Amino acid sequence: MNQNKARQIPFFALILTLAFIFIIIVIFHRNMKTVRPVFGGAFTTDNVVVIDPGHGGMDGGATGVSGMLEKDCTLKISKKLDTLMAFLGIPTVMTRTEDLSLDYRDDATVRQNKVADLNARLKIVENTENPIFLSVHLNLFTQSQYRGAQVFYAPKSPMSETLAKVMQQSLLTALNDGNTRTYKKASSDIFLMKNAPCPAITVECGFVSNPEEEALLKDDAYQKKLALAIAGGYIGYLNETA
Ligand SMILES: [Zn+2]
Repeated sequence: MNQNKARQIPFFALILTLAFIFIIIVIFHRNMKTVRPVFGGAFTTDNVVVIDPGHGGMDGGATGVSGMLEKDCTLKISKKLDTLMAFLGIPTVMTRTEDLSLDYRDDATVRQNKVADLNARLKIVENTENPIFLSVHLNLFTQSQYRGAQVFYAPKSPMSETLAKVMQQSLLTALNDGNTRTYKKASSDIFLMKNAPCPAITVECGFVSNPEEEALLKDDAYQKKLALAIAGGYIGYLNETA
């Protein structure tokens, strides 16, 4: 189910986005001197970014220490990212824009529905011309002290690792929270990472099992910061591979 986005940007969102652009300029000029972002319609790229808000519908994903569901947070971050990408003139497709499981059927088992959902997401990637796949997730661990955003790359396309490297750096720079995590190869049992036929990464935006980080992840301003970091990482990737 390929959903077209309604790109109605309210005035306040536009103002916030302009503020983000300003921050991008500051961040890139201070920390990534080799990257020279180009904004708006002047930006040229043949790639379409497939933004994938992890989970949805019957699949809530991880549950945070205060009860936040991963599926809700990934959708909020992804929508902010999509708005930002639209402003930057970067074409996108979202795998979902609502709280739902793709290709859901009432008469199917939970497992069948999960498989159908993942297959539908893969189909969206496959049906997109020159896709770059960004899957947005949150992390969870049994011990609450672990925190920090981390990027995992899909091994099928050699460009995935470059994308992960630049994205991890962008997250570390933009969030500046003492996180020392490094990007890693995605485990082979992650369906979309295994099968994506293009540069593909999973951005684990933080740990919902860590109370402070979960509180941040619920915060609208922090979600914007994450979206900005991801957009910045993507621009860094385009510059690195141009
Ligand atoms: Zn997840």
